[in-house]
Amino acid sequence: MYNVAIIGAGPAGIFSALEIMKLKPEWRVILIEKGEKIEKRKCLLREGFAKCPNCKKCGLLCGWGGAGAFSDGKLTLTPDVGGHLVDYMERQKVEDLIDYSDKLYLEYGATEEVFGTDMKTFAELERQAALAELKLVHSPVRHLGTERSLDVLKNMQDDLDGKITILNNVAAKSLIVECGQVKGIELDNGQTICAEYTIIAPGREGADWLTQEFAKNKIGMVNNAVDVGVRVELPAPVFEPLTSKLYESKLIYHAPTFGDEVRTFCMNPNGEVVQENYNGIATVNGHSYANMKTKNTNFALLVSERFTEPFKEPIAYGQHIARLANMLGGGILVQRFGDLLDGRRSTPERIKASIIEPTLTCATPGDLSLVIPYRQLTSIKEMLFALDKIAPGTASRYTLLYGIEVKFYSARVKLTNELETEGVKNLFTIGDGAGVTRGLIQASASGVHVARTICERG
Ligand SMILES: Cc1cc2nc3c(=O)[nH]c(=O)nc-3n(C[C@H](O)[C@H](O)[C@H](O)COP(=O)(O)OP(=O)(O)OC[C@H]3O[C@@H](n4cnc5c(N)ncnc54)[C@H](O)[C@@H]3O)c2cc1C
Repeated sequence: MYNVAIIGAGPAGIFSALEIMKLKPEWRVILIEKGEKIEKRKCLLREGFAKCPNCKKCGLLCGWGGAGAFSDGKLTLTPDVGGHLVDYMERQKVEDLIDYSDKLYLEYGATEEVFGTDMKTFAELERQAALAELKLVHSPVRHLGTERSLDVLKNMQDDLDGKITILNNVAAKSLIVECGQVKGIELDNGQTICAEYTIIAPGREGADWLTQEFAKNKIGMVNNAVDVGVRVELPAPVFEPLTSKLYESKLIYHAPTFGDEVRTFCMNPNGEVVQENYNGIATVNGHSYANMKTKNTNFALLVSERFTEPFKEPIAYGQHIARLANMLGGGILVQRFGDLLDGRRSTPERIKASIIEPTLTCATPGDLSLVIPYRQLTSIKEMLFALDKIAPGTASRYTLLYGIEVKFYSARVKLTNELETEGVKNLFTIGDGAGVTRGLIQASASGVHVARTICERG
């Protein structure tokens, strides 16, 4: 019998374990992770494979550290970006949780430097953005880089090893719920774990599983917006005026034709574009190393679509579009912006005759207009022209667009302000899988928050 069982060793699960061990070192805590220990994690594509082998368990997303392990490790230190925690508690409380989580990252070896704290520089960039009808969100960033992220997470793993029970390569299969209260979990190896409290933190990787389990237990879900878009890659000097000062600029635009919100997301100066694999579907993302620089900068452009009743399947909608790209390109598609505007596909020859060398070499040159719905594609084009005003060269015909980038955090669990599920007592759900966060620092902060709540209940 455990005091607490935690499902998923991403930042959300890890930070809840760290905080519980600080407050209740005598408690018995078990952390169940379906992937490997951090030192055994492997993504074959990152190691030079030409094509993603579609591993059954994606090495990029599963294992100690979750999606955070090989991530760019950008800690965005504001409640305005990377999640919805302000919907559950006062803004000041979220700021305090972010500050506390940031200090924990520092304690375990994060880099000292924070970008974007110079308000005078920010105000000037904000002015330039406003002239292009773009909103620049103030978001200071601590950048760990992928190598440092791995070190920090390994330090956390070493610290918790021995203090709590950690199971690797085992997945939670189903929740045990009796009389409206969670009693434990059944694992896919046949084992049953009994625990007084259960924290579910399965990330976007486990969002489908979470949705099914919650439907089974009649726990309410609400639709979030569906975020679909592309990853943009361009020469680093084009965005250098912004990235040298802010590292990551969060820009929001309301595209005129449809009025949809388009935003920049996960900017990686001198970084590389990477492929992810969500349950067999190839999607695109990006990251950068602290010490290894490419000549390119990449970022996502995501279009947020808020659907109304009777639509109930935001994850399936995103998957459907990503599958179309996979069907046409055998994986990720890449197209030059000029080819998209000219209504023709990109070809290997056209990509070669460019000033940009793609960093994701396995992407297939093709035509994104056959995949992305007209509405989202129009908004993306309009956003690229708006960005061109503050970073001339963005709308160049050589700019590369990779598809599809889609965020599967769309179904949000109905939760109390303590992030406990409405309907099942002692069951808490946090991080990206619950739809309450979208980034490392808020996922970590959500872990700290539930850990404190549970420890207070005793
Ligand atoms: C390439 C890439 C780059 C990124 N860069 C950044 C960045 O720079 N800054 C930023 O803020 N965010 C970034 N992100 C997003 C960030 O990684 C996530 O927001 C964050 O990791 C979410 O944390 P989480 O704990 O909720 O989930 P995750 O990190 O996804 O962890 C969930 C864990 O649960 C496990 N799991 C799932 N289902 C089960 C189950 N049934 N049983 C047992 N275990 C299970 C998974 O294997 C996984 O290890 C990036 C993501 C990617 C993929």
